[in-house]
Amino acid sequence: MKLYEYQGKELFRNSGIPTPRGHVIRNLAELDSLLPSLSFPVVVKAQVLVGGRGKAGGIKTAASAGELQEYAKNLLGSFLKEDKVIALLIEEKVAALEEYYLGVTLDRATRQPLILFSRKGGMDIEEVAKETPEAIARIHVDPQMGLRNFHLEQLVKAGGVTDPDVKKGVQQVAQALYRLWDTSDAALVEINPLMVLADKTVVAADAKVDIDDSALFRHPELEAFRRELPESELERAARETGFLYIDIDPEGNVGVISNGSGMIMSCIDWIARHGGKVTCALDLGGGATADRVARGIGIVLRNPKVKSLLISIFGGITRCDEIAGGIVRAVTEKDVNIPIVARLEGTNKEKGLALLAEVSGKTIEIAATLPEAADKVLRVQGR
Ligand code: GDP
Ligand code: MN
Repeated sequence: MKLYEYQGKELFRNSGIPTPRGHVIRNLAELDSLLPSLSFPVVVKAQVLVGGRGKAGGIKTAASAGELQEYAKNLLGSFLKEDKVIALLIEEKVAALEEYYLGVTLDRATRQPLILFSRKGGMDIEEVAKETPEAIARIHVDPQMGLRNFHLEQLVKAGGVTDPDVKKGVQQVAQALYRLWDTSDAALVEINPLMVLADKTVVAADAKVDIDDSALFRHPELEAFRRELPESELERAARETGFLYIDIDPEGNVGVISNGSGMIMSCIDWIARHGGKVTCALDLGGGATADRVARGIGIVLRNPKVKSLLISIFGGITRCDEIAGGIVRAVTEKDVNIPIVARLEGTNKEKGLALLAEVSGKTIEIAATLPEAADKVLRVQGR
């Protein structure tokens, strides 16, 4: 779950990481009530989930109330790289001596938390990583041991920070950021730029926080943030049923229902290989019951772009007969007028296929393998 900058900064402040003073506005009326308390210049920051807002025109400096109102009018509700600007963060403009980069993520190769630090922040860190990888300090932390002072010493040393005040500031932020990453089950926390001000203090001018979706259940404190994130009607319906709905390609016309992201990707690949395009997918996860499967099918069918449905299941915890029961229920209770191709493998496969055989002929076709299913689903819908 990716958070907006203003949400990330709230977590930062709660963790003791300094940020510029700021206010969130969602409409022009809120801006009007905020205006009297502002002193200029301010930085106007479009709240979207995509990165690189600066380059895309989503960050402005306003020198007066008039200028701010003008920017707000243009930015609010507009689209930045296909992401709707739902709010603006109005912040005091801070003057930076330097712009650093600081991030914490999981290094899957070493199975350890990794702290990244660079004095070349502010711009594309990917660019820095490509052009001058030596300008990024990388410090691994043994998760059993946790973050220790020597890690923080290594970080600033490798990063080339010599000023004692700046060094202390960076270390304090790194320590707090690491703790936030750890305790919030984040996949990534990132500050770019981490600004060094004239008085040698450091502040987080940007915030990128991505929480591991599988750990969300143990973070009820983040529920309020989630409610502020954009979610389509189908995404919400799926989440409330315990599934994950994903829009894939607006040009596609095949719907995919499967269990597990790996199998979903295989479905997408096989359909692409046969010259088709998947428009959306539903991940049933593990252990779906017939009743919920039927509801899941109903959710995918509500997408008007779906002209055929591929259901591919590898039964483990999930039982093929429950899946088949759900398919049967969906086609008998709902008004299904698109072809369905099902491929069931694993636990209770025979029972499942027997259930489907009772209604087959109507709209359900069976395939023995995934490649066959992909080919069939495109054939029955006329590609
Ligand atoms: P991003 O492009 O989406 O990563 O947005 P950022 O929040 O990182 O803003 C882009 C750039 O705007 C930063 O690298 C800074 O140079 C600048 N910027 C953002 N906030 C401030 C601020 O408070 N003061 C100053 N002087 N510059 C800012
Ligand atoms: Mn940034």
